[in-house]
Amino acid sequence: MAFYKALENIELKKYSEVNPETFAVVFYSKTSFKNSNLFDKEMKQKVSTYFEHEKRSSMLLSKELTGDKRDVLVVKDFDTKKADHKKYQWLSNVFVGLDKYGVENAAIYADTSSLIKDKNFVFDLAKIAEKTTYRYTDTNPNTKSEAILKTIDVCVEKLNASLKKSVEHGFNVGRGANTARNLGNRPANHATPTYIANHINELAKEVGGFTVEVLEEKDMKKLGMGSLLSVSEGSVEPAKLVTMQYKGGKKDAKPIVLVGKGITFDTGGISLKPGAKMDLMKWDMSGAGSVIGTMCAVAASKLPVNLVCTVALSENMPAGNATKPGDVVTTMSGQTVEILNTDAEGRLVLCDALTYVKKFNPKVVIDTATLTGAVIIALGDVAAGVMGNDQKLVDRILEAGQNSGEKAWQLPLWDEYQSYLDSNFADIANIAPGRAAGTIEGGCFLSRFAEDYKWAHIDIAGVADIGEGKNKGSTGKPVGLLFEYVNSNR
Ligand SMILES: [Zn+2]
Repeated sequence: MAFYKALENIELKKYSEVNPETFAVVFYSKTSFKNSNLFDKEMKQKVSTYFEHEKRSSMLLSKELTGDKRDVLVVKDFDTKKADHKKYQWLSNVFVGLDKYGVENAAIYADTSSLIKDKNFVFDLAKIAEKTTYRYTDTNPNTKSEAILKTIDVCVEKLNASLKKSVEHGFNVGRGANTARNLGNRPANHATPTYIANHINELAKEVGGFTVEVLEEKDMKKLGMGSLLSVSEGSVEPAKLVTMQYKGGKKDAKPIVLVGKGITFDTGGISLKPGAKMDLMKWDMSGAGSVIGTMCAVAASKLPVNLVCTVALSENMPAGNATKPGDVVTTMSGQTVEILNTDAEGRLVLCDALTYVKKFNPKVVIDTATLTGAVIIALGDVAAGVMGNDQKLVDRILEAGQNSGEKAWQLPLWDEYQSYLDSNFADIANIAPGRAAGTIEGGCFLSRFAEDYKWAHIDIAGVADIGEGKNKGSTGKPVGLLFEYVNSNR
């Protein structure tokens, strides 16, 4: 399945629709638990006593103990005084616990949690369930391939259409994020630009609702994309520029346009990177991966919006014919670029993609890219860096970050920084001579190609992949943020 699916199904049900033998999860807090109709008075008293005295975070009530038809996992409710990000960890622990207990089908009584008042709770629940159940198996088929958990009923006493939709959307966003993770985790000898372009076509067939157009190198040459093509020059893998179009909104409504950096492997080119941890550079396509995942989540959720997603896919390799430091290329916009460092290649593919998407008459353009190591120095693995030419757009992205738990933080794009990129051999250099303000300088470069529309840039180099050794992997960020932005700004 191209559109990744870890769980077979997750859906909203009312209490009476749930099989009474399904393994149940209830949340315990003094008030919400007392008010629920799930146990008799005596049982409630037992559970309360246990939780109050033992200070446990969960307890399993087996059917042997309770005489009930099912096992019940009681989980201590989330303490809303805690920081928001802990909510996601808490939810994730619930699903890790279910897997540990070997549960295949679970019924989660969502309204036993005080968080049910939060309109995003069932959305988050579905998203985190799908994300926690994700396993990478594509190139290691001998490892334990699947999580045990297969289906989840999210149970509430009273159904309503908006809750139902939230569960569906959360599941789709989880699947979109997992699709991005799986593309990212696939090694670069497997996930080439050609592979990803083909994969996008498969996704379009499977998910439906969006069209795909693939530009080959000869097409890009005709359009004058000298900058993008300078990156793929040293690679035997041809570059691809893939555009997905989804028209769920009004016919004449301007589309939101997302652009993703898709460097399927970044050696740095002739400005070769050091060898240590170079394998991490397979994730240099995470911007593209997240844009692809977002398109799938939006189309599967049938959001009433017009969305265009463009990904610039290329390898960055050193070779006899590779672009050299000091080379000057002409971009599609007509501006010339002095390439002082071939490792600052993300902006070289993005600038032509940004010029290209002008033809869609965008409402806004948001690009996302693992653009600079400097953003990790600035914000670590906690937040993505955001810059843009329209403060309202930037504010909405920050808000979407807050609401989705995929945080972002603004960096300034003040005019003073623009002169860092002055060149005496071209209109603009691709990097500044010094190391100062590296992330902003990347934003400044891109801003030169985004003057005709409202634009923002999200640098995800710190958040797209995490961990070390055997624990390293893609996070699927910022699919959650992008979906939230699209859904709340349509
Ligand atoms: Zn690079």
